[in-house]
Amino acid sequence: MVLDPGHQLGNRHFRSEIARPVDAGGFEKECNTTGAATNAGYPEATFNWEVAVAARRILRRLGARVVLTRASNSDDLWGPCVDERGTIGNPGEAGPTADLRLSIHADGVATGSAHGRFRGFHVIRPGVLDGWTDDIVQPSRRLAVDVRDALEAAGFPASSYAGRNGIDVRSDLGTLNLSDVPTVMVELANMRDPADAALVESAVGRRRYARALAQAIRSYLVQ
Ligand SMILES: [Zn+2]
Repeated sequence: MVLDPGHQLGNRHFRSEIARPVDAGGFEKECNTTGAATNAGYPEATFNWEVAVAARRILRRLGARVVLTRASNSDDLWGPCVDERGTIGNPGEAGPTADLRLSIHADGVATGSAHGRFRGFHVIRPGVLDGWTDDIVQPSRRLAVDVRDALEAAGFPASSYAGRNGIDVRSDLGTLNLSDVPTVMVELANMRDPADAALVESAVGRRRYARALAQAIRSYLVQ
């Protein structure tokens, strides 16, 4: 399986590189973005990386072969672009073909506004894009439900501001559109919400997220 820790810590130092347009599923989109941060400045790239590495540790212990889409979390590096993230593990690509790909992110939506509190996770599954995702929409829907259910079972609240019952459907994300294996992206938290940020910034919280994701993958694969 492929775990895709979103962004790279150094992306902010490589603005022109990450702004380069790449194919995102029949249309072009920027290579990557800098990602979000908590109000205290804890970066999303680091959170995504820590959760992915912890989940990899659990999954490897269970006997899984786990590939990450980046080899480190470094302030001196950028990328990879979404077109690379979205194809690692596809049949015909270099390396093993994955049974699934899970992209790990956290959101950065301003909260505390008149709209109320924006907190919680949401899982994004690919919408139907003929010739691109029509072959993976159904298994990805099942994967989205398993990720949502595992996060809820672990005590994480579903998003109060995005998707329905913790699941959103999008067709504008290259990471999802380019996949030929079942895939979802998860926004594990809203980093700008104080309660979510407390989880994101703590090692205990990150391990809880990682355990829930490993459990979701188990559930998906044993069905
Ligand atoms: Zn992100």
